[in-house]
Amino acid sequence: MPELPEVEAWRRALNDPVSAFPVEKAGPAHIATLKTFDPPLSTLEGRRFAGVERRAKRLLFPTEDGELVLLIHLMSAGRVRYLLAGEKGPKSPAFRLTFQGGGELVLTEAGAKKRAGVWLLTPEAAEAELEHLGPEALGLGAERLGEILAEQPRRLHSLLRDQRVISGIGRAWANEILHTARLSPFAPAQGLSPGQVSELADAIDSELERGLELRERGAKDAKVYRVHKRLHEPCYVCGTPIERVDFEEHTIFYCPQCQTGGRLLKDRRLSKLLR
Ligand SMILES: [Zn+2]
Repeated sequence: MPELPEVEAWRRALNDPVSAFPVEKAGPAHIATLKTFDPPLSTLEGRRFAGVERRAKRLLFPTEDGELVLLIHLMSAGRVRYLLAGEKGPKSPAFRLTFQGGGELVLTEAGAKKRAGVWLLTPEAAEAELEHLGPEALGLGAERLGEILAEQPRRLHSLLRDQRVISGIGRAWANEILHTARLSPFAPAQGLSPGQVSELADAIDSELERGLELRERGAKDAKVYRVHKRLHEPCYVCGTPIERVDFEEHTIFYCPQCQTGGRLLKDRRLSKLLR
């Protein structure tokens, strides 16, 4: 699942090419991918994008005339690419935009399930679509984070991933951030000391910035993640094997030495909780 560092790296890479020329042809789009029908996609044709913006894990392409916003949510398996004129791309992407001059923006999605989405909205409708999202994770700061945590009787890992509370973090970066902050993924959000809140705020910024920098250089998961999906590999800080625990529908990776005082966490799968 692309999270803030991945989506922001794409935003930066796409910003200049997609605003260089007006749209020549918008679509086709897979029926499951295109989530809106009014205004029709063809309304984009002849208009130029002002650039690319990002909100949480979504990419926003506002038109220069201020009348429309194209919104793309990649979900788990969606990917966007800009193809130069004449560059070979996928035969039938989930969504395609062709620009004057021949460049193309293509959205592809691996697997049979089509979960990524494209919306064409007015700026007001785009605002309403994004209204439920919490503040951006990057640059949140200790004070604001402290206020958020104080209101949430939740465990840290699930709170960090909740886009309505803080936006941009998913399960991979929640693993990395909590490891850097030396906090248990199961720690209650309301139980942190002011020092721990401040360490968590610092870890959110330092980990997301580290991820962004690496993704901008094209680094793959194996280079970017130090804890996520590193089961039984030595922790890069203390050498203890990384462990995993299932919580609700998620698998969490953590270092028992750095994060839980040497204790192994017990699985709390959703199926078990429901029994
Ligand atoms: Zn460790």
